[in-house]
Amino acid sequence: MRVLALNCGSSSVKSALIDTAHGQRLQEMQVENIGSDHARLHAGDQVRELGSGIDLPAAVDELLAAYRSASPEAVVHRVVHGGEGFRDPTLLTDSVLQDIEQLSHLAPLHNPPALAAIHRALAALPDVPHFAVFDTAFHSTLPAHAREYALPGDIRQRFGIRRFGFHGINHAHVAQSVAAYLKRDVSKLRIVSCHLGNGASVTAIDGGRSVDTSMGMTPLEGLVMGTRAGDVDPGVLLQLRREGHLDADELDDLLNKRSGLKGLAGTNDMREIERRAAAGDQDCELAIAMYVHRIRKYIGAYAAELGGVDAIAFTAGIGEHSSLIRRRCSERLEFMGALLDVASNDSLKLTSDQPVAAFNAADSRVHLLAVRADEELAMARATAAALGRH
Ligand code: ADP
Repeated sequence: MRVLALNCGSSSVKSALIDTAHGQRLQEMQVENIGSDHARLHAGDQVRELGSGIDLPAAVDELLAAYRSASPEAVVHRVVHGGEGFRDPTLLTDSVLQDIEQLSHLAPLHNPPALAAIHRALAALPDVPHFAVFDTAFHSTLPAHAREYALPGDIRQRFGIRRFGFHGINHAHVAQSVAAYLKRDVSKLRIVSCHLGNGASVTAIDGGRSVDTSMGMTPLEGLVMGTRAGDVDPGVLLQLRREGHLDADELDDLLNKRSGLKGLAGTNDMREIERRAAAGDQDCELAIAMYVHRIRKYIGAYAAELGGVDAIAFTAGIGEHSSLIRRRCSERLEFMGALLDVASNDSLKLTSDQPVAAFNAADSRVHLLAVRADEELAMARATAAALGRH
């Protein structure tokens, strides 16, 4: 079945037309830097400047025009926040769209762009089914002790305060990819999945089910990320607010856009941070040290929660491409049976033909793996399954 997957971020749209029977990308395109002066459309090796003034709906229109002649049989949209209710790929009807709209306050940077894209796609391709898949859905299995915050029950219930977790589409894909690579049944595996892109999260996966994850009610909790601080003592925010230094919007901006690697090193591009750290830049050295330290803390914590680990997987931009970060996260894990092979880590390259690769030593009990993130493939497959196809 040919499924068109649309994956909208706040400043980019990734898209792929996927033959779900063979897991093959028939066509793929992305638009980057939306809202800036240099929005660009990438299609294979070709790059087209879209110029300034291109907003997200216009970028989606460009993509849809290019796919129309390929006659997709279904379209699937990534929606970051599915709240309590959306746990499965869901056919988009008017009432479902209204429900998603009502969740926008939980993911103000993510759900509104996805909704804008959905409306454009429904108008452009009205005769095929459109589905939404949700980044929170994979974490609907979180047990209560990992789902709740230690706040009074009446506050949690009245205001719907709980942990949801994100990046679930890719964490689920990682679990399936690891099981396929190891030729094991996913229900028998304990996996720690480290999704290290601009946003970043770690998930503990027990037998294919998410049992803990580092992002919480919003994508702000957990790891040091590209522009988000991750875990911060909430007392710091109270103090900044109470003493009148920052209001709620300024705190939002600080935590979402000006913190993390960007706040520490002045850029959220890990390649540049690695280059500058190698040249002796102390801010960049500290940024890398803090980035790795936080990941290692979660790996250790999740190993304890899972009662041991069979595989630790690294995925997304930094997890797939940065041998330095993979190495530093995997060092000194011998105590839990994970032995790194430095040479395999340094030479590791993922391709569409080799989407998973190992970098553990031969006598390591724990598999250390890099896994290519492929949200579009996972979305397309989930849609085909929901329609009872391949
Ligand atoms: P997004 O969450 O926006 O999809 P990505 O998964 O593309 O993000 O990850 C972006 C991050 O990956 C950036 O910090 C980028 O610098 C980093 N990255 C990409 N390639 C490399 C590389 N070769 N070495 C180190 N970091 C890399």
